[in-house]
Amino acid sequence: MTTLNDQGLLKSASYWQGAWHPAAEHFAVTNPANGDVIAKVANASPADAEQAVTAAAAAFAGWSALPGAERASMLMRWHQLMLQHQDDLGLILTLEQGKPLAEAKGEIAYGASYLQWFAEEAKRVYGDTIPAQANNQRIVVLKQPVGVVAAITPWNFPNAMIARKAAAALAAGCTFVVKPAQQTPLSALAMAELAQRAGIPAGVFNVVVSTDAAGIGNVLTQDKRVAKFSFTGSTKIGKQLAKQCADSVKRVSMELGGNAPFIVFADANLDAAVSGLMASKFRNAGQTCVCTNRVLVQQSVLAAFTAKLQQAMTNLTLGDGTTAGVNIGPLISDDACNKVDELVRAAVKQGAQLHCGGERQSLNSLFYLPTVITNVTSNMTLAQEEIFGPVVAIQCFSDEAQAISLANATEYGLAAYFYSRDIGRVWRVAEALQFGMVGVNEGIISNAAAPFGGVKQSGYGREGSQYGLNDYLDIKYLCFGGLDN
Ligand code: NAP
Repeated sequence: MTTLNDQGLLKSASYWQGAWHPAAEHFAVTNPANGDVIAKVANASPADAEQAVTAAAAAFAGWSALPGAERASMLMRWHQLMLQHQDDLGLILTLEQGKPLAEAKGEIAYGASYLQWFAEEAKRVYGDTIPAQANNQRIVVLKQPVGVVAAITPWNFPNAMIARKAAAALAAGCTFVVKPAQQTPLSALAMAELAQRAGIPAGVFNVVVSTDAAGIGNVLTQDKRVAKFSFTGSTKIGKQLAKQCADSVKRVSMELGGNAPFIVFADANLDAAVSGLMASKFRNAGQTCVCTNRVLVQQSVLAAFTAKLQQAMTNLTLGDGTTAGVNIGPLISDDACNKVDELVRAAVKQGAQLHCGGERQSLNSLFYLPTVITNVTSNMTLAQEEIFGPVVAIQCFSDEAQAISLANATEYGLAAYFYSRDIGRVWRVAEALQFGMVGVNEGIISNAAAPFGGVKQSGYGREGSQYGLNDYLDIKYLCFGGLDN
């Protein structure tokens, strides 16, 4: 980390009440590209998480009372600082998470874009007047911040998954406590440093870093002072945390796993479909919730599509994300590599055909070779579970009805993609897909202006867009009566 321009961004302890808090124990943060320890971070306890909640609860009255425009200017300063330090933040992110530096810097810009978006929305928390049913009454609707928000976020977007939630929560007037993933605490702590520099008051944005996910999670889901809980992560853990929130009847948002289909119809522009798939599949080495998981190709174009895809994949360069020209980094952990490998091997055993890849780059490395397999069928585990690796798993279909039925045959409903140039088909398929987000002739769909979120077991709630603030606002109805006296 000696190459940071601003060493002050490298923090090693949790942040609450506007201060950094040491701990008796520390845990190591390692670089997945080479296993090097890049930092040792103070390991917060559940009691520390309670203190962070206390700080957020104490700060709520002051923060929520500020005019939206004042909260907006602090969020805008935070946004500007993130962009000003994009190189350093990108480097920290690459070193702890592994994604190529250009992608990491892109994530910083993406995260910052939510701060900007919600800074603007902070000024537009409009209420309503509703025609009353009696002449002597008036009905007014106010929107008010829900209170203290707690969040738990994953390692695959260590900056943006926090920014997406915190920006909306703070804009609405809520205060915020987040526990980031233990593999990627440094990006979260760097955000806290910049929040402090942006003038965001003590207690408004708090970060608790720890290896005790369950212990911290118990506090954040069960403390009665927390009004709202927002989680991004796996469906399995999300279900458990939603149950934990039930006892205190918290507002809950869940951004969970996906199993995105990517459908290529025979009438598609195959070159556009290949480049869309390259972006959707290989970004972050295949480790995103909206990554294509199942590629469904119409029989008549299967051979042509697969050949074009393999040609495009010759441009993929695996390596340490800080090396120029690298566009695929390592997977996050040995477990992640083993899981991807098991999924591929099991599919091949069940009759899928391996065209390239199918193994780690070398023994013990976390680099998994870009892989293509065909003859995949819906009963194979890799068609049912998130692969979370650089594996293109291709299934074949004969007609539109079968494509829709295969695409929807999953308990997940986050993102889906399809390529077609037939306008009638575009509308039919877009409306029939049971997913929260659909890319039509487009492989990258996330941006601050759009509502991000899923249906079915991919969760509920929306982040970004004009809808994103609603997750952090309560509706209050005022009935003014006796107006005829
Ligand atoms: P995960 O195991 O569910 O972990 C996510 C977060 O939950 C981490 O901070 C983790 O902490 C914490 N956690 C784990 N067990 C916990 C427990 N018992 N109590 C409280 N917190 C707990 O997910 P992951 O494998 O790290 O992340 C990848 C998943 O996130 C994928 O399923 C992906 O699709 C999903 N995701 C969804 C979206 C979306 O917007 N829908 C976006 C990105 C990722 P530790 O790190 O300390 O274990």
